Amino acid sequence: MYDVIVVGARCAGSTTALLYARAGLRVLLLDRARFPSDTLSTLYIQQPGVARLARWGVLDDLTATGCPTLDRVVYQLDDIRVEGCAAPVEGITGAIAPRRHTLDRILAEHAVAAGAELRTGCQVTGLIEEDGRVVGVTCKEAGRSVTERAPLVVGADGMRSTVARFVRAAEYHEAPRLTCAYYTFWAGLQTDFELYEGKSGWVSAVPTNDGAVLVSAYFPQDRFEEVRADALASYTDGVRINAPQIYEQVKDAERLERLRGTGEQRNYFRRAAGPGWVLVGDAGHHKDSLTARGIGDAFLQSELLVELTAGVLHDPERLASALAVYGTRRDEQLMEAYQGALMVASAEGKDKRRALLSALRTSPDLTQRYFDTVAGLRPVADLYTPELLALMSAR
Ligand SMILES: Cc1cc2nc3c(=O)[nH]c(=O)nc-3n(C[C@H](O)[C@H](O)[C@H](O)COP(=O)(O)OP(=O)(O)OC[C@H]3O[C@@H](n4cnc5c(N)ncnc54)[C@H](O)[C@@H]3O)c2cc1C
Repeated sequence: MYDVIVVGARCAGSTTALLYARAGLRVLLLDRARFPSDTLSTLYIQQPGVARLARWGVLDDLTATGCPTLDRVVYQLDDIRVEGCAAPVEGITGAIAPRRHTLDRILAEHAVAAGAELRTGCQVTGLIEEDGRVVGVTCKEAGRSVTERAPLVVGADGMRSTVARFVRAAEYHEAPRLTCAYYTFWAGLQTDFELYEGKSGWVSAVPTNDGAVLVSAYFPQDRFEEVRADALASYTDGVRINAPQIYEQVKDAERLERLRGTGEQRNYFRRAAGPGWVLVGDAGHHKDSLTARGIGDAFLQSELLVELTAGVLHDPERLASALAVYGTRRDEQLMEAYQGALMVASAEGKDKRRALLSALRTSPDLTQRYFDTVAGLRPVADLYTPELLALMSAR
């Protein structure tokens, strides 16, 4: 018998397990993957996420792997360029972008060091339900079927969550897919964190471990079939057309890994919790990855969940109330970034983005507010000051 079973051991699951274990609870952390292993994702963690890693005592191990601090950001839309960085958060002056095989391994190691029991190569195949509550999981491990019980099962098992499927967690605030994304890693590029929006899509450059730079190309979702028919040619064209500065470096550089990509840029919230179960990370909410918020948002959810529930896991009534509060606060805290991601990723929003950037780049204060808003440090309302609105309407 455990106090809590966490399904999925990456950004959402390992941090949830780490925090529950630090609260003195008996935690079972399960993943069908084995670590270290990579996953489909680019890597940018904004300052609030980095600040949480520091608070949890994980950041030093990550920076020791050599992933650089990214404290200069470039955004360019056609010919309009803004440069800057979000304000420091709890002394954290920049973002980081560690490789996922490194980040996820280190998070899982910290969960284990805090006292969680980690089982990898263990696939959850079902939930045990009694009297209308989830009370445990069934899983397959080394060919054996195993059952484990706990008063709370956390689904931290990603967009295709098994836990969400078995509890039939309803989706809401769904929106159509807006982009598709391809990326790979290059040696020898000199870039900051840079994001370009051009005629036919978006390109980002993200310095990561071992001196490598991840370059991604995003395209409108309605081009996905055409893009994937010759993904490397489409990627190269995307970089050339939308970020010529990056293309100049990439065209002669050494590509370090195969190209990876996805059209599964889903946009949804799922019901957060029910009797004996709760969802964190992509399992409960997913948005277009163009705005690079998924990892930090997973950290936000794990912290919120553990703060609200660690003391009440064995009291079904208080647990139900705490889970209801978790669901409400999760949606309140993530809704603005969700709407922002939908705006940034929609091709139709380009004129609005152009008007915004060309107005705000004339003012250092507005430029700072913009970078703070993008990183999630300020609400959007703080950006749209009377000064900005006046500048926008004058154009
Ligand atoms: C192309 C792309 C680029 C992105 N770029 C960024 C970025 O730059 N910055 C950012 O912040 N976010 C980015 N994201 C989003 C980010 O990757 C996700 O939000 C984040 O990985 C979510 O973490 P998670 O722990 O919720 O889920 P996942 O990372 O999906 O982990 C889920 C885990 O659950 C395990 N699992 C699943 N089912 C079972 C089962 N039945 N039994 C046992 N284990 C199971 C899986 O093996 C997996 O290890 C990007 C995403 C994509 C697709």
